[in-house]
Amino acid sequence: MPRFLLPPHAPTVLATATGDLVAVRRVYCVGRNYGAHAREMGGDPAREPPFFFSKPADAVTTAARIPFPPATADLHHEVELVAVVGRGGVDIPAAHALEHVFGYTVGIDLTRRDLQELARKAGRPWDMAKGFDHSAPCGVVRPATEIGHPAAGAIALEVNGEGRQSGDLGAMIWPVADVIAQLSALVALEAGDLIFTGTPAGVGPVRRGDRLLARIEGVGRLEVVVG
Ligand code: MN
Repeated sequence: MPRFLLPPHAPTVLATATGDLVAVRRVYCVGRNYGAHAREMGGDPAREPPFFFSKPADAVTTAARIPFPPATADLHHEVELVAVVGRGGVDIPAAHALEHVFGYTVGIDLTRRDLQELARKAGRPWDMAKGFDHSAPCGVVRPATEIGHPAAGAIALEVNGEGRQSGDLGAMIWPVADVIAQLSALVALEAGDLIFTGTPAGVGPVRRGDRLLARIEGVGRLEVVVG
């Protein structure tokens, strides 16, 4: 029996309200899925096919306080609805896509915006702008059997009690079912995959010591202090 010369890492886990755990496999994110945010990023909110990027699974954190990340002078918050895949598949039709969702949580796609801008200008990958340590704070997972599949409702983020982001899930250019259909045409999805579904307008800077409060109607809330 071969042995591990280096010990395998324990999976990153999210918890439900009852304390049951979900092991995270992969983390995919949709870029520009709300028109107003696409415009604030200098894009065209036309309904082009969504584009995806990813973060390492261990970028996900449920800690109440995370360190301020290195190598940035322009850390940004992006509140997002996160779908938790419960049943894998490839080429999943949109009409059946929600059957593959176990549940949902509130996530924040933390972004080193300065590094992202440099990467965009140079045509380079976004990994170091998006996939750094602690870059994916997530809340409690709410099973779809409990809350259904939220298609509308307020999605908002406050910094130190001041409103910054405010939108509605109904304003997604590509709703969750379409996102799953498109993503599963690119990669095989498996149980435990997380899909960050994009952020509404109002992204902005996070400074050391800031308290972020993210809320999604019907899903829950997530509070995290940075630094
Ligand atoms: Mn995002």
